[in-house]
Amino acid sequence: MKNEPKTLQEAIQYFADPGNCLDYIVARRWPNGVVCPTCGSKDVSFVRSRRVWQCKTRHPKCQFSVKVGTIFEDSPITLDKWLAAMWMVANCKNGVSSWEIHRALGITQKSAWFMLHRLRLALQAGSTVKLGGNGGEVEVDETFIGGKARNMHLSRRKHRLAATGVGGKAPVVGLLERGGEVRTTVVPTRRKKDIQGEIRKHVEQGSHVYTDALLSYDGLRYQGYAHQVIDHAERYVEGRVHTNGLENFWSLLKRGINGTYVSVEPFHLFRYLDEQSWRYNNRATKDNPMNDADRFSLAVSRIVGKRLTYTEVTGKVGETAPEAF
Ligand SMILES: [Zn+2]
Repeated sequence: MKNEPKTLQEAIQYFADPGNCLDYIVARRWPNGVVCPTCGSKDVSFVRSRRVWQCKTRHPKCQFSVKVGTIFEDSPITLDKWLAAMWMVANCKNGVSSWEIHRALGITQKSAWFMLHRLRLALQAGSTVKLGGNGGEVEVDETFIGGKARNMHLSRRKHRLAATGVGGKAPVVGLLERGGEVRTTVVPTRRKKDIQGEIRKHVEQGSHVYTDALLSYDGLRYQGYAHQVIDHAERYVEGRVHTNGLENFWSLLKRGINGTYVSVEPFHLFRYLDEQSWRYNNRATKDNPMNDADRFSLAVSRIVGKRLTYTEVTGKVGETAPEAF
């Protein structure tokens, strides 16, 4: 579509018009015409005055807005705010905090926090295709993320220490296919069972796998991988055997988490990892020259079929969602 925004400033102006919000989302959600989210019928009519559709089939919820069946469902927050927040999440390299969204959009921090979790859900990794294959090369590395436990309230600190390992940091495994995508998972421990389990789950047998000398990687060659080790006590690169791609990703990730978010609960860590991985996998490269508008468009196309309730996101049954959410 022409006139679509290219920058955050243009996006804010463009989406100030509710008609533009609607057109933008409809074009991505229903590229082949509007479909009733309840019954799947295409026989629907648009009620212009209320910006909803009426399904001609008789069933409950036969009137629906563009929010129904998306991460925006049941939210009283208007689409101009949702889309501005999505632009920021899709394009800010180090991530955005709920405080920034709160100030930029004039909503409460608690609402902004919950919005961010829903936006991250849209970006959550969904691919089940294995990495590597056909002689592909996959770097595997592990790190600890989180911490800053000494700045936390004592009860919170105890809670976190119980949930994770040393110093309140959570072990994370990263897998990066050279020239392809990165995937990250929070694992219970750095032991062989947990780490090799992730490799079997995400990497095609027969791939080249490059790791450091951690003993947890021992025996991968007996599981069908062309495993080569770079011993960081001696050197960091030996020909093609290195994990520098993942090292770069870790430093980006830690800059985002330590700089942008004051503290990340282990319970939510995977959502931050997914968000950062998504931005990394959709960064501009020579083969894939994506710009901010492309990334935003891609993010908006992923809002469908995902819900996240307040209880799911907080893990606190009985606590109510913030008023204006
Ligand atoms: Zn219907």
